[in-house]
Order: sequence, then C-alpha cells, then structure tokens
Amino acid sequence: MISLLGISKEELKDIVLNEFYEKSCRVTQILKWLYEKKEFEIDKFTDLPKKFRETLQQKFKIFTLDLVSKEKSNIDGTTKYSFKTYDGYNFSAVYIPKLSRNVVCLSTQIGCSIKCIFCNSGRVDFVRNLDCCEITEQLLRIAKDVGKIDSVLFMGMGEPLLNYENLIKSIKIFLYPEGLSMSKRKITVSTVGVVPNIYKLAEENLGIKLAISLHSYDDNKRKKFVKNLKFSIKDILEAGIFYAKRTKTKLTIEYVLIKDENDKEEDVLGLIRLLKKLSKDISIFKINIIPYNFIEGIEFFSPTEERINNFKKILINNGFLAFIRKPHGSDIKAACGQIGF
Ligand code: SF4
Repeated sequence: MISLLGISKEELKDIVLNEFYEKSCRVTQILKWLYEKKEFEIDKFTDLPKKFRETLQQKFKIFTLDLVSKEKSNIDGTTKYSFKTYDGYNFSAVYIPKLSRNVVCLSTQIGCSIKCIFCNSGRVDFVRNLDCCEITEQLLRIAKDVGKIDSVLFMGMGEPLLNYENLIKSIKIFLYPEGLSMSKRKITVSTVGVVPNIYKLAEENLGIKLAISLHSYDDNKRKKFVKNLKFSIKDILEAGIFYAKRTKTKLTIEYVLIKDENDKEEDVLGLIRLLKKLSKDISIFKINIIPYNFIEGIEFFSPTEERINNFKKILINNGFLAFIRKPHGSDIKAACGQIGF
C-alpha cells in the first residue's frame, strides 16, 4: 500500500480520473483535506462520497512513519521529533519556534555519505534516501502538532541534492496553492555543493532559496571538514552564484566557525577575497556564521565570543551581509550539526 503523501497532484489526477473514474475536482478536495486541514483519516474526508473514500482507503495509507519521541528544549522551545521508518531506521526533524514564524528543519536521507567531520549526521553511514512521502510526512506531523509552518529548511540529516527527485517532488507538494501553499522564498535547500544538481535546481524554476555549506575559502582546508565531495570551492560557488542570479535570490553561505581551525583573520580575509573575485555584486551573498555546536567525541570547540564577533565585523566592514546564527535546541542535541540517530 502506498502513501498519499508521496503522490504529486498530477499523479493523483491520473489515478482519480483513469483508475477510479471520478471527477477531477476530487483531486483538490483530497489535497485540501491532507495539506490544508491536516486530516489524516481518509474516512473523515466527508465531502467525498463514502464509496470513493472506501476505495481510497483500500489503495492508500497516509502515514508510514512512527513517531518515536518528541523532546522539547528548556532553553528555547525547539522540539526534536524522532521518527522510525517502516524498515526500522531512525531519523529526526526539528521544529524551531521563532518570534515571527514557525520553522522546520527536515531530513532527506538516512545517514549521510558526505561525512562532514563536525556533523553528527555524518557519523551515521548512509543507508538510503528518504521517499517523498517520508519527507512530506515530517512536515505534516509537525504542522499538525504546532500549527502553521512558515519556513522549511532542508538542513537535517542527509545531503538534499543527493536525493534530488524526492526533494523536488516534496517541495512542489509544499507549494501547491490547494494545500500548504508555502511561499517559495520560505523554503531553503542547504547543500555542501553537489554542482550538477545546483544547475539542475536552477532550471526547475521553483524560486526557492539555496544555501551552500562552505566553511573555508581554501580547498585543502575544506577537505578536512567536508570529506567525500569531489567539487572545488570555485566550481561550487560559481554554481551557487548562477543559481542566485537565475532565481533572483540571495545565496546564503553557511560557515561553521571552529576554534583555531577556520576562525582566524586570514580565513575571513581569504573568504572575502574569494567572494569578491567570483562576483562583482557582493550583495547577492548572505553569510551565516554558525559557531560550532558541541558533539561528543569530536575534538572541536566553538571560538570565543570575541573571535566570532570579530569574524562578523570584518565581513560587515567589507560590505557583506553577515549574521551569527544562534543555536536552537542545543540541550536536546537539535542544533545545527548535532542531529544524529
Ligand atoms: S553537514 Fe550535511 S552533508 Fe555534511 S555530513 Fe552533515 S548532513 Fe551530511
């Protein structure tokens, strides 16, 4: 039995018309029940004929994940939802309540083949991609629990651009006007730099935002942090700049700042030089400085506050838009880089 949450509008229309011989308006009705009203019992889709509901129930289920645990941070209310898949694997999604908006951080894979050295997900061997229904279900389960979700970050476990088809399908579902009706600018895909798929994503014309996890201006240094990626920093940034120009969005540069590793003045000056060389218009960049979040067993530390602020100050003095990202849910291991099994 397959999940309704992994079915696109076009696929659903085809099934409704050609398999069930029902009217096409049923498609909108189903999408509204699932994504707008967040009703997950097909029997309660009360504006559908009873017979049709029964047929739907025979063919489809809605959820495929078990919610194993829900941990809420005492610091800031960030909540980590841990799920178990039908084949027995665990992964998490995170809800981050902000003053003006509700944000979720979703996972796209079980484990991660890239194995970034500062990331807990990278310590989990890659098992498989999450299906579209498993990606969509994370969002819906959290939305049912906390209310409307305003922003989605694909920054959980896994490299989203290595699960391209399921990622794109789920994003399209999030954008359906009959459903969640999310704003395209409120969806951000974060990548370490899968170059061909950055170009492919630009051609999708979805208008979502892209973030590149960079962490260094120097290829040799970066190889120490980001293990299994063959693309150079220059190729990655050129692809990111192409994406930003094509979609008229800012390119976010994520920079995990690690004490004595990539936090020195020469690091920030190298970054500035590189970005200025690759784009005359530096207003397309937004730089997020992420002080390293502690992970047990990893010999890295966060820099002093003074060094973090100095890193930001140098960027700003050179005309860049730069922010220091506050950790969310570090007491429940839900902050950036901390999500593991
Ligand atoms: S940072 Fe992203 S790409 Fe790197 S190991 Fe973690 S999940 Fe994978």
